[in-house]
Amino acid sequence: MKQQEIVIQNPTGLHARPAKVFVNIAKGFQADIRLFHGEKKANAKSLISLLTLGVESGSTIRIEVNGEDEDAALAALAQAVESGLGEEELIERVAAGAELAPEAIAPEKPEPPQTEPAALPANTIKGVSGAPGIAIGPIYHLKRTEIKVEETFEGESAEKNQLQAAIEQAKGHVARLHAQMLAQNVGSEAAIFDVHLELLDDVELLDAVLAKINQRQSAALAWQSTIDERARLVAGLDDPLLAARAADLHDVGYRVLRILAGVTGDSAQFPNHPVIVVADDLSPSDTASLDRDKVLGFCTASGGPTAHTAIIARALSLPAVVSAGERALALDDNLTVILNGDAGLLIIEPGEDEIAEAKSMQQAGQKLRHEAQQAAGAPAITLDGHRVEIAANIGGAPEAREALKSGAEGVGLLRTEFLFLERKQPPSEDEQFAVYREIAEAMQNAPVIVRTLDVGGDKPLPYIEMSEEVNPFLGVRGIRLCLTRPALFREQLRAVLRATQHGTLRIMFPMVADLTEWLEARALVDEICIELGVSSVEIGIMIEVPSAALMADVFAQHVDFFSVGTNDLTQYTLAMDRMHPQLAGKSDGLHPAVLRLIDQTTRAAHAAGKWVGVCGELGADPQAIPILVGLGVDELSVTVPAVPTVKALVRTLNYSETQALARKALACARASDVRQLV
Ligand code: PEP
Ligand code: MG
Repeated sequence: MKQQEIVIQNPTGLHARPAKVFVNIAKGFQADIRLFHGEKKANAKSLISLLTLGVESGSTIRIEVNGEDEDAALAALAQAVESGLGEEELIERVAAGAELAPEAIAPEKPEPPQTEPAALPANTIKGVSGAPGIAIGPIYHLKRTEIKVEETFEGESAEKNQLQAAIEQAKGHVARLHAQMLAQNVGSEAAIFDVHLELLDDVELLDAVLAKINQRQSAALAWQSTIDERARLVAGLDDPLLAARAADLHDVGYRVLRILAGVTGDSAQFPNHPVIVVADDLSPSDTASLDRDKVLGFCTASGGPTAHTAIIARALSLPAVVSAGERALALDDNLTVILNGDAGLLIIEPGEDEIAEAKSMQQAGQKLRHEAQQAAGAPAITLDGHRVEIAANIGGAPEAREALKSGAEGVGLLRTEFLFLERKQPPSEDEQFAVYREIAEAMQNAPVIVRTLDVGGDKPLPYIEMSEEVNPFLGVRGIRLCLTRPALFREQLRAVLRATQHGTLRIMFPMVADLTEWLEARALVDEICIELGVSSVEIGIMIEVPSAALMADVFAQHVDFFSVGTNDLTQYTLAMDRMHPQLAGKSDGLHPAVLRLIDQTTRAAHAAGKWVGVCGELGADPQAIPILVGLGVDELSVTVPAVPTVKALVRTLNYSETQALARKALACARASDVRQLV
């Protein structure tokens, strides 16, 4: 066992952000790591636990490490604390006598909109679109059953057994929700339930509850009070991402508590006719559990369009308005409303005209989706006979099966990151091989483009040592990272090349900015092909860095295909962080600058007899599709649910008209001018 005392210099102590850095480092080691602060101790691998220490600036903490890699762990943690846990600059400024301005530690808040909202009719509440679609029906306020916890202590072991059984049962529920979401083809959104499972497994949380039971508290009371304490603490954190974890804690906490209290389902109170649910907010599991036969859509007073609840609603095709404010909560049950998820509006007691209009919008939308679904298996050919391949972006084998059912003609982008994230060791070659093989077989010989690992920078892997970067998006990510980790890269390439025997796999390198990167990566593939005695496959690159688009004529001499990653290409062309809340409205892939780069890419590719796909979000944007087709893009790769509608849209186009439209778009001055054109 090794230990060391160390002073926390961070101006606000060990608050959320430095704690997050600390936990991530601790998780990289096998050793048991504890942190002591006064009387309190915490498991350094549990964020909730660490945060509960309440370490203030200037406090001394003791790090105690026990295990095989204890020396390395202690050295890494001590060094990280000494160098400020990511707050070096702030520490220096405060040490130099600067006032600690609140904005130095508070999260950024998006600026209020600059323009006055247009006046709305008095019967209309303006929220934000959570998920598209129109619903008409009576309001039903969803309130959680208040659980009254009776203090009836039945003895330590009986209470502990009850607690354990309730946690196990809750895990079963969460795992079922997770499976349901996967079955509904919302694999990536289902990840939120992994977090819930992790919280149900948090040793520190459990220890705290057991300690209370030892002091003769009932399991229900001990659980409730521990969850409340932890959630309160987490909710108060100044990191909005971490503070959001409080909702997850309440969610899993409530689930266990209901089991302990013998409450059998809120759905019992639901009216037996379809309703529009109104609530202050819905937890992700509330949303995933909503009975689709009874719920037409929902409106929440709080929440936002990027919260998991809205993401799940979109994945389930459930119309939703979020952030509608308190007024929505004051409406009476059973009032008829129109929920317009496209525009983010709630129209209260609509007139006949309003209902007729909503119904015709609803029918038009349903008809379009239905027709698109019916024709999903047919190719996407324009009215004048030009074919565009429509492929799917997927993140795992279950989505591959859905992709084929939705009419995808292949996989244009397999994001292999899902295999590497949230684990302590990289996946082995055999493990990767099994997954690539399953996907190749599921796609039944339709081509699958396997994008090699695109992590680093903003998406660190615990098992790869990386120095902290000031600008992670401009740092060692994508192909740059793989080339500096040849063993990791080699294992992935070997797994993909072995799986080529079981289907039609292609390889694509992300974030290529320079020809040298391509040459090095390509040479490695050739070497492995010889090693394995297999023939090579088609290999391409993503065009997501402006330099690659500008040098497309050079790359086209080497690669088999290009796929334009418009998400990153837009970010790097406009120098706008793709996650920035204030820039979301401006960071538009239809900016003429981005379109000119795509144009340059398609021209260079076609001149060399190569094809070009688009696999960024822009490929599913109805306003962008005619322009991309007109620019000569050969393949659009979109999310699985979007495949039928994108195909249907392409079938309504006239290729020669889209070419003329694309020329006009290239000559526009701004993205808004391009959008005006379409
Ligand atoms: C892109 O950048 O457009 C892309 C498809 O890759 P990702 O979104 O995974 O970065
Ligand atoms: Mg990208």
